[in-house]
Amino acid sequence: MPAECRCGRSSFYFRRQSGEALCKRCFTKSIERAAFKTIKKEGLFTPNDRIMIALSGGKDSIALAHILSKIEKRYGAELFAVTIDEGVRGYREEGIRIAKEVATRLELEHYTFTFKETYGYTLEEICEIAKSKGVQLLGCSFCGILRRRLLNDLALKLGATKVATGHNLDDESQTFLINLFRGDVDRIGRAGARPLVTREGFIPRVKPLRYIPEKEIAVYVYAKGYDLYQRECPYVRASLRDEIRDLLNRLEADHPGTKHSIVNVSDSLSELLEEKIISSKVERCFLCGSPSSRKICRTCEVFSLLGIRRSSDRMN
Ligand code: SF4
Ligand SMILES: [Zn+2]
Ligand SMILES: [Zn+2]
Repeated sequence: MPAECRCGRSSFYFRRQSGEALCKRCFTKSIERAAFKTIKKEGLFTPNDRIMIALSGGKDSIALAHILSKIEKRYGAELFAVTIDEGVRGYREEGIRIAKEVATRLELEHYTFTFKETYGYTLEEICEIAKSKGVQLLGCSFCGILRRRLLNDLALKLGATKVATGHNLDDESQTFLINLFRGDVDRIGRAGARPLVTREGFIPRVKPLRYIPEKEIAVYVYAKGYDLYQRECPYVRASLRDEIRDLLNRLEADHPGTKHSIVNVSDSLSELLEEKIISSKVERCFLCGSPSSRKICRTCEVFSLLGIRRSSDRMN
């Protein structure tokens, strides 16, 4: 790697795909520029937005909170952060501690909500029930469905106009392949840095870091002096996403640019599927009355699959 950045400072990061050596300053600026470009090009925010940041305490959400604090506060948007405690002992506590520290450093209003308070069960308890009943779904599937629902309910309750998440290029390329392998055309169509249509009852979820590789986000967070979350969720290793992550990392190492190409294809397919997505109807869940594209929403589906009742929904 060249010893110097173009600006003359000593190099800090080598970007293999473009062959650039970057000093710390040019590297962090390049990450912020990439996020800003997505925000601008996709029109993710307006100055009147009240943006809820999904702050898990992991590197992606830290980078997101830091970058939005730099960019969006300047334009007058209101920012606050929410951390969800799914209830995974020995793993989640560290993330919550880091999330609190980040919110304090960035002077963000911060809330923590738990699965236990909301649904009556921790993720661990839900996984135990699933195991005892022979339900084949994995921890990440329960977690994803219940977290998405809770984030939307919280956004409605706390008056957010947008929910910003820290999904990065790696997450988004993995998600595309998962949807492809599952034959889920609707989800392929709905992928993107922002939703194609605003639907009643759903607060738009936006992803300013969609085109930034995971590795560069980790380096950015380190360069900004944040604590990095060391623990790994015990459920991650059993997931399909984990297998696809390994596959994509191998492909990227041999064929640099693979992840970018996949996300670009995903964007092109979303455009082609736009009409299908726009014309799909939003219904009300037959059981809980929440907006859903299905007769029974995924959250109710999970609970009926497990044969348990969730505690009364505290958001209502
Ligand atoms: S790894 Fe899976 S189970 Fe663990 S927090 Fe992430 S989505 Fe939830
Ligand atoms: Zn430089
Ligand atoms: Zn429901």
